[in-house]
Amino acid sequence: MASALRRPLLAGNWKMNLTLTQSVELARLVVSGANTASGEVAVFVPFTAIAVVAETLKGSPVRLGAQDCYWEASGAFTGEVSVSQVSDAGGQMVLIGHSERRKLFGETDDHVNKKLGAALKGGLTPVVCIGETLEERESQKTWRVLETQIAGGLKGFAPADLAKVVVAYEPVWAIGTGKTASPAQAQEAHAFIRQQLKNIHEGFASGCRILYGGSVTADNVDALMAQADVDGALVGGASLKKDFLRIM
Ligand code: PEP
Repeated sequence: MASALRRPLLAGNWKMNLTLTQSVELARLVVSGANTASGEVAVFVPFTAIAVVAETLKGSPVRLGAQDCYWEASGAFTGEVSVSQVSDAGGQMVLIGHSERRKLFGETDDHVNKKLGAALKGGLTPVVCIGETLEERESQKTWRVLETQIAGGLKGFAPADLAKVVVAYEPVWAIGTGKTASPAQAQEAHAFIRQQLKNIHEGFASGCRILYGGSVTADNVDALMAQADVDGALVGGASLKKDFLRIM
């Protein structure tokens, strides 16, 4: 069971899915099933859906986020979306450094660091995603990868600035594959991550929520959430289905 210091967060990542009509329907379903007495609920939707989903979520406790942002405030950056544009559309949170961004679009820890700075400056709650590939796990590089991603992504911020940061541990081999880290594997990685965060600042580490992501379903969420350092889940595929109601 995670510490009472940290309010659990159950978040859905809709990735590049759904029309606007479908987005509104799913957002309504999430509002109807969100059990926010015991934790926070959030959905991370495509940029194009932020404004309509914000309208649907109005007055509900469900929080809304974007799946990425750019670090510059405005200008000639075709295709990018700034933090202030995300907020203006109604977003309150943002995913940073999702493994699909890192793998498919070449995002580095330096990009993550810049995006984190922009998100914090602009008042969005950032969820910084980290995690190792299968190859890295099998060659015993998991801890080094996590250490490097944390050090590079979070470098240069004062502990007070980091207070809002959420970290998501998403082993790449578990994302969208149907393979989930066992509860023990997740706990081991989360405890390691919290130790790394302690190297930045003790108070930040004990208050920071660390979410698990990677093929979370209604069937495995309870065992994962029972781990001491698992403070919530970032859910991809299952967040598009009724399963998400049970997960919440
Ligand atoms: C994700 O995209 O963040 C994710 C964890 O996806 P899935 O739940 O589908 O593995």
